[in-house]
Amino acid sequence: MKPRIAIFSLTSCEGCSLAILELEDCLLDILGAVEIVNFREGMTERSWDIDIGFVDGAVSTPEDMKEIEHFRECSKVLVAIGACATHGGLNTLKNYQDESDYRKYVYGDQAARFPTIPAQPLSGVVDVDYQLPGCPMVKEEFLEFVKVVLTGRTWHLPEDPVCVECKRNGTLCLYEKGIMCLGPVTRAGCNAICPSYGAKCEGCRGVVHDEALKAAGINLREQYDVDLQDVLADLRMFGAYQEKTLP
Ligand code: SF4
Ligand code: SF4
Ligand code: SF4
Repeated sequence: MKPRIAIFSLTSCEGCSLAILELEDCLLDILGAVEIVNFREGMTERSWDIDIGFVDGAVSTPEDMKEIEHFRECSKVLVAIGACATHGGLNTLKNYQDESDYRKYVYGDQAARFPTIPAQPLSGVVDVDYQLPGCPMVKEEFLEFVKVVLTGRTWHLPEDPVCVECKRNGTLCLYEKGIMCLGPVTRAGCNAICPSYGAKCEGCRGVVHDEALKAAGINLREQYDVDLQDVLADLRMFGAYQEKTLP
């Protein structure tokens, strides 16, 4: 019997769910190996007997809270896809604003109709089996994950920082141009796509493990006379929730 797959969305742009639809040719191969039984973006049928449930979006409303608990109960394996689901993502920016101000700004005099709570990743509410970070998630990584899990192997995210991929690509480091970049403190796996277009890494794949962070601190100080804490202070776009756990 084929594994039964579901794809759900909480508060987000749903770009990571859409990225699955954009897989085009590869999607046909995936459909040969699995049965998609619940996917609001792509089909009308709904089943709640799920082997692997993928969820994008952050838990940001009371409704999200109920939904993620339901998805967890119905899914044997739960996978957070995209920065919103793995780290709270852009949604967590609201956690640093006055609630009445942003609610009034977004909903005007209808704000009372849209209850909200501080945004958090899925793992803040339920147990999550796997995380595929990034904004959006990396499609190739999603495909690799599906292959690995369907063949009964164990999935591991890359442990290196983005700088490793950047150097492998031969990209000139942005610190050489005096631009602060979050690559040294961010988990690799995106092939350092932002620096390859001249843009700084914004940390959408989450912070590297403590040892890599320590090494980044030493390198930044020795090579560019930059303090690690100044770099980490720039994490807020995607890292507001992570900031709480940093050294
Ligand atoms: S991680 Fe980015 S692309 Fe994915 S749902 Fe969140 S905002 Fe959209
Ligand atoms: S700091 Fe940024 S630009 Fe420099 S190597 Fe690392 S990822 Fe690339
Ligand atoms: S370079 Fe940084 S911001 Fe850009 S996709 Fe990779 S992790 Fe995300």
